[in-house]
Amino acid sequence: MNIGFIGLGNMGAPMARNLAAAGHAVTGFDTANVSLDGVTMAATAAEAATGRDVVITMLPNGDILRRVAAQILPAMTKGACHIDCSTVDVDSARAVADLAVAQGLLAADAPVSGGTGGAEAGTLTFMVGASDAAFATAKPLFDIMGQKAVHCGASGNGQAAKICNNMILGVTMIATCEAFALADKLGLDRQAMFDVVSTSSGSSWSMNTYCPAPGIGPKSPADNGYAPGFAADLMLKDLRLSQLAAKGADADTPMGAAAEQLYARFVEEEDGKGRDFSAMLPRFSARSRS
Ligand code: NAD
Repeated sequence: MNIGFIGLGNMGAPMARNLAAAGHAVTGFDTANVSLDGVTMAATAAEAATGRDVVITMLPNGDILRRVAAQILPAMTKGACHIDCSTVDVDSARAVADLAVAQGLLAADAPVSGGTGGAEAGTLTFMVGASDAAFATAKPLFDIMGQKAVHCGASGNGQAAKICNNMILGVTMIATCEAFALADKLGLDRQAMFDVVSTSSGSSWSMNTYCPAPGIGPKSPADNGYAPGFAADLMLKDLRLSQLAAKGADADTPMGAAAEQLYARFVEEEDGKGRDFSAMLPRFSARSRS
């Protein structure tokens, strides 16, 4: 396929590289000065989009996505497909998809899980909001960039799945970290705590796969001084998106709201900025109840 790829940052660059390595013709654009092996760079976003079968965007937020979409969608050939892989608010995803469909294009919102490691290895999970036709067009590309693509329903539903998943992740990471800090204060060995919880009803991805305690469980950012991994700032972004969506949908999400407040404090007032989101454990360890 002839593919345009806009937003070649930590995630977009390796995703575009994998598409090029699989034999697709990839034309890229980024506002930063980026050059990538196997990817032809365009001078503007519109140029990267013109005449392509598929245009993929991987951008920081919904405002930037809306701005870029206004430039690229009119430049695209009728019947081509726009796939947005950024994590953005549900409203922006739906507005951009509506604009694409109004221009005679196919549209998919396809945020990812799996982080930069998954992007490099081509093992991302895609959560996709799209028509059947858009999903069918995009699926072969998801198969190159990832290991799984779930069609979640119509436009916006990919973003809905993403923020619900990450709301669970934020809440379970906090619960896991506060439980470790409590266990420490009760004199319970961390390895024993892991051995019990990881095979009991308190188990979760946060405990079993991404254990926040250094030296315990599989290798995780805790074993690397809490360098991200998945930065606390990005978790805060996703928790804010989930609260925005919850307000819009009048959904009661008290645990998600508490997680948002805690990560906001951690990132904006404490030492969480630039650290992995599992660095909540040393935060709790250093605190007392009051
Ligand atoms: P990043 O900041 O590394 O990359 C974003 C890129 O977009 C940058 O290179 C930037 O120069 C470019 N950009 C900004 N404005 C632009 C514009 N107007 N036109 C063209 N390019 C522009 O961010 P990232 O880590 O690659 O994340 C991208 C998206 O993926 C975000 O929405 C993020 O929430 C999501 N995400 C990130 C991760 C992760 O672990 N990093 C995991 C899952 C999802």
